[in-house]
Amino acid sequence: MRYGVWGIMAAAVLTVAGGLLSRAETERRTCRIHQHLTARQDTGCGCGGAGLCSHLPLVVIDTRGQEIPGAITETWDRFGQMIYTKAKDGETTISAHMEVIDNQDTNNHVSDKPQLATDCRFRIRGNASRRFPKSSYAVTFVDDKGSSRNIPVMGMDAHHEWVLNGPILDKSLIRNYMWYNIAGELMDYAPNVRFCEVVLNGRYDGLYLMAESITAGKDGRLNLSANVKNAEIMGYLLRHDRPTEEDLEIVRDIYTYPERAFQIAEDVAIRYPGKSKLTEEMARTIELDYSAFQKALFSYDYNSKEYGYENWIDVDSFVDYYLINEFTGNLDAGSYSTYIYKEMGGKFKLCVWDFNNACDNYQEKAVEPEEFLMPEVSWYFMLFKDEDFVKRVQRRYRELRKTYLSQEYLMEYIDETIAYLGPAIKRNNERWALELTEWDGLVPKERNVYTYQAAVEQLKEWLTRRGNWMDGSIHSLLKYAHPSRNRIYNH
Ligand SMILES: [Zn+2]
Repeated sequence: MRYGVWGIMAAAVLTVAGGLLSRAETERRTCRIHQHLTARQDTGCGCGGAGLCSHLPLVVIDTRGQEIPGAITETWDRFGQMIYTKAKDGETTISAHMEVIDNQDTNNHVSDKPQLATDCRFRIRGNASRRFPKSSYAVTFVDDKGSSRNIPVMGMDAHHEWVLNGPILDKSLIRNYMWYNIAGELMDYAPNVRFCEVVLNGRYDGLYLMAESITAGKDGRLNLSANVKNAEIMGYLLRHDRPTEEDLEIVRDIYTYPERAFQIAEDVAIRYPGKSKLTEEMARTIELDYSAFQKALFSYDYNSKEYGYENWIDVDSFVDYYLINEFTGNLDAGSYSTYIYKEMGGKFKLCVWDFNNACDNYQEKAVEPEEFLMPEVSWYFMLFKDEDFVKRVQRRYRELRKTYLSQEYLMEYIDETIAYLGPAIKRNNERWALELTEWDGLVPKERNVYTYQAAVEQLKEWLTRRGNWMDGSIHSLLKYAHPSRNRIYNH
């Protein structure tokens, strides 16, 4: 059977804020598109194959002779963060032209008529990845007047904000695709993604992933609204991350309550409402609301019915976010690149982001599959004190090991994705041959692999060991909730 059926089953039992979801949103949450299962397969092409001929969508970008801003400079700002290059006019983005060639019935060629052609604001994005030779980009579609413009892309709902992620440290090329999609089956929302191939200023630049950025959207993204001043019904989005000059507004906790939270998240910034909509009053309302949640979670009565965390968070969302990131050893989750949001009238939920480093692909150190990594990170430091929460995690884990986290599903997912990508992998690995065969992105040196096959084997082996170990160890998570460990809270 196709696993799409599981998706419908899983989505059907999801708890959603009663009555607040539009029909479009309900649908988006029941039919995740996995490109490798539904898109046209590579069945050859009548063109004879001279030049770039791909069954994947082509993204053709012209920067009109401008350098792309957002590159590293080796100088640092007052937060200790790298200062990035700017455009000649001092802006952080340039105006570029983008075409997407995505034929329905035939392969795609650069000379084909594009399905989408638009101006956009364009820059390099990322943290550590800005040092990599293959860059990732932030894209905002704009019209002739420079105003943002919503356009559907490769079957994903219309929006103006997108991310073009170029896998390179992840030599398997599929970590983000795989885990955004699996997360999208389990959780209310995870960014939709499509593989494509990029031609930048006439040069072939390999395999990329077009991804939705996490933000508000009428169709298919988060149901947030800047129109309401009351934080209880207003929808907003925060990001825990390293502080940057780019952040719109810094949320500071006015109770200085979550001392613990500050140890693990350097900075909490409002990502939505954005700069143009966010008033002082809204920022203050959000700050108070988020502080009240932190106060509830990090207080002695964190699990009381009257004041406890369940009044604030969608527990299923926190359980799934934990399991996906724990299972993949995605260490940054909860501290960096961590998105927490409240849809209109709803409770706090989490959204996954960035699996390039997952499954033992951190540059700095190895991540062993035989240990729990996240029970003391961020909010989970408190949540794991609660036996009820731990038991929900354990129940959900055992359930998911029969579906989306089963050994069979994961191995098949990897094999089928690679089979779908087919010749695009070869083209990418020829374009980035030096990086694949010689680059030691990981330390110590022994962790690096130098063939595509070895990269896939590493991913499979790590996930296999991870699942086996967690099966035998998931019961032991109860130790975090044991009174002997938490007597100061429970007795
Ligand atoms: Zn062709």
